[in-house]
Amino acid sequence: MIIIKQAALLQEFIQRQTASGKQIGFIPTMGALHPGHLNLVRISGQKCDITVCSIFVNPTQFNDPGDFTKYPQRIEKDIFLLEKSTADVLFIPSVKEVYPDGLDKLENYDLGALEQLMEGKFRPGHFQGVCQVMNRLLRMVRPAMVFMGSKDYQQCLVVSKMLESLDFKVILERCPTVRETDGLAMSSRNLRLTAGQRATAPFIYQLLINAAIAITPGNNGPVLAAAIRKLSLQFKPDYVELADARTLEPVQVWDGITPLVLLVAAYLGDVRLIDNVQIPSIPGKTEY
Ligand code: AMP
Repeated sequence: MIIIKQAALLQEFIQRQTASGKQIGFIPTMGALHPGHLNLVRISGQKCDITVCSIFVNPTQFNDPGDFTKYPQRIEKDIFLLEKSTADVLFIPSVKEVYPDGLDKLENYDLGALEQLMEGKFRPGHFQGVCQVMNRLLRMVRPAMVFMGSKDYQQCLVVSKMLESLDFKVILERCPTVRETDGLAMSSRNLRLTAGQRATAPFIYQLLINAAIAITPGNNGPVLAAAIRKLSLQFKPDYVELADARTLEPVQVWDGITPLVLLVAAYLGDVRLIDNVQIPSIPGKTEY
């Protein structure tokens, strides 16, 4: 695996590869890598000729400065893990490489309702920052495919909207959420949980599964209200939301046909955890 820090060198490398007909797969990350990230690298290795993984803790996507300063960083362990993976290139740019004109004058992206709902509502500016960094990284890496995790479901829809509106010819592949054996969605932020919090954290996934089983065609308001009540006993919830899986528009009364996603964001101490499960159409209901 080659480690590259400068955008110009990365672009030179990428140009050589694409000129010889190689397809680039790209996995953008913020590091503190875990099996969820490494699974994206593995899938890219199966589908593309060259796999580029980036590690960049993007300052523009943190609406909470405390979250930014406390974000786990352990580059040596990350390099060790990637050396054993199917990654061919690790790109670790500085802030100056990604934002050569500084962090003051940044462009704005039209993300429609996605920016007002759930993560958009509770983390103002977060998705603008995600688009700012993704746009810059994609222009440097020029991948044929980008691999992202379903754990950040809304982020996948936001990036997909950005790719479409900027006419990027990139396939975004949304990959399954990788979980600990007790169901907790793997996340770099889990490193910040105390032992007690770590023991409590899998409750989020249990809650999602139990609520998903209880969701039926008709009014699901009471299921959602009960879920938020139960979550509030141990967590500080931002939301428990049932939504159309394609648009994230909230759905309370379900027709049984619309594919759904059930999403949660909640704090355990000062660590914010998110997770979701998808709920497909009921078999036998008329498809779109
Ligand atoms: P992050 O480093 O948290 O910005 O995540 C980088 C990429 O890894 C994003 O596309 C995430 O959705 C994905 N990812 C993070 N955790 C998981 C997980 N548990 N399962 C699958 N993908 C994940």
